[in-house]
Amino acid sequence: MEETKTITFDELGLSNELLEAVKSKGFETPTPVQARTIPEILNHGRDIISLAQTGTGKTAAFGLPIVQLADDKTSQTQALILSPTRELCLQIAKDLASFATTRQRINIVAVYGGSDIKTQLKALKGPAQIVVGTPGRVIDLIERGSLKIGNIRWLVLDEADEMLNMGFKEDIETILSSTPEERQTLLFSATMPPFIAKMVGQYMKDPMEIKIGRTNEGASTVEHHYYVVKAQDRYAALKRIVDMVPDIYGIVFCRTRQEAKEVADKLIADGYNADALHGDLSQAQRDMVMQRFRIKHLQILVATDVAARGIDVTELTHVINYNLPDDPEVYIHRSGRTGRAGKKGISVSIVHTRELSRIKQISKVSHKDFTRVMVPTAEEICQAKLRYFIEGVENQQVDTDGAIAGLLPKVCERLETLSKEEIIAKFVSVEFESVNRYYQNAEDLNVELADDRKKGRKGEKPGMLDEADTARIFLI
Ligand code: AMP
Repeated sequence: MEETKTITFDELGLSNELLEAVKSKGFETPTPVQARTIPEILNHGRDIISLAQTGTGKTAAFGLPIVQLADDKTSQTQALILSPTRELCLQIAKDLASFATTRQRINIVAVYGGSDIKTQLKALKGPAQIVVGTPGRVIDLIERGSLKIGNIRWLVLDEADEMLNMGFKEDIETILSSTPEERQTLLFSATMPPFIAKMVGQYMKDPMEIKIGRTNEGASTVEHHYYVVKAQDRYAALKRIVDMVPDIYGIVFCRTRQEAKEVADKLIADGYNADALHGDLSQAQRDMVMQRFRIKHLQILVATDVAARGIDVTELTHVINYNLPDDPEVYIHRSGRTGRAGKKGISVSIVHTRELSRIKQISKVSHKDFTRVMVPTAEEICQAKLRYFIEGVENQQVDTDGAIAGLLPKVCERLETLSKEEIIAKFVSVEFESVNRYYQNAEDLNVELADDRKKGRKGEKPGMLDEADTARIFLI
């Protein structure tokens, strides 16, 4: 997480109670978005537009001061936080509750679609000073007279672009026009498409712009790799990239639901630990997939941008752009999901020759260097798999007192006639039969670029990036 060196939490105007909460969260220094947003809210200052994405500390940026200022002598709703998905609402409510441990009388209520409204109606009967909700459900609850927004002091639009992409435009406008004019409006968005700019002009007063999200999203711990293949080899290349990293934990981004479904189905059929996350799934199905991914029972999540928004997983090893997004900002947002918390992450793009200009454009907008990496050969993949397998064998704990203790003598007796070398050869063969079979006669998937020919070998610079940017990289 990028931090400002000069400012401390103490200097932002937070109360001792909140400073205590910050401390127990383990936050040491405010992030840039926090350094600028917290005082602005505490001083009842200007509206804020922040190009800040997940990972920038934006939840604490608005959450800490709102929790501090919320009045616990009244049960009226004073803050309304709108967020696109149920998962994000729950995450925000959880974060805010963790800031409010010393403000026990402040209640934070999450309301979202796809869930029994009765429980939410009941929760809103009690004190609900802070409400976090998806726009559709918020409107529903307002119409039922359960949620009253006439006394709102803060309105937060979280992931505004995503809410609009998801068709919440009218709901948001209805909410904006039903809250008091003197409210402070805080808008967070990964991108600033024209319709958001229009909404800002119409509903926000002299807003202060904070553009720091981007620098954090494109953290320097992320390497940006791209592979150039023929369009029809995209899936085969994906397999090889994944095969090189047997312990991969990543998201494969697709452009459409259909594509996400197809890629996931193929990966599953090919024996990978993968599943799809897209808008065609029911809420229960989405929850199940996300939960499996969160606890790492799933290694590869194939998702659309919208569906992936709700996932707050910090340890991804890879983000794979199966197809590049049209908007460079979306690429920056995708790649910002890896390389978090000081860990190294790799953002991979699989492109065909006509898409090279897009890589160039993203590189320019994001100020990131992109490295062309060659699709691994069959031999390299087999070597990587072997290395991984041997490491697994070496690190395997053997519980000699456990269930296998009774079986081992029989197994040893059975294999008695084989030498150590023969046993090893057979073990390795069992493990490798399917990989070897698949990669037998496998072709080179790399596309030769004009500049490669000049240089006499594939993989040299594709004529737009520095020569040093090209490499055959071994990921293990
Ligand atoms: P967010 O951008 O709100 O999704 O926050 C991303 C992550 O950063 C969350 O896990 C927060 O707990 C963490 N975080 C927020 N602010 C800080 C901070 N000042 N120092 C360290 N971690 C933080």
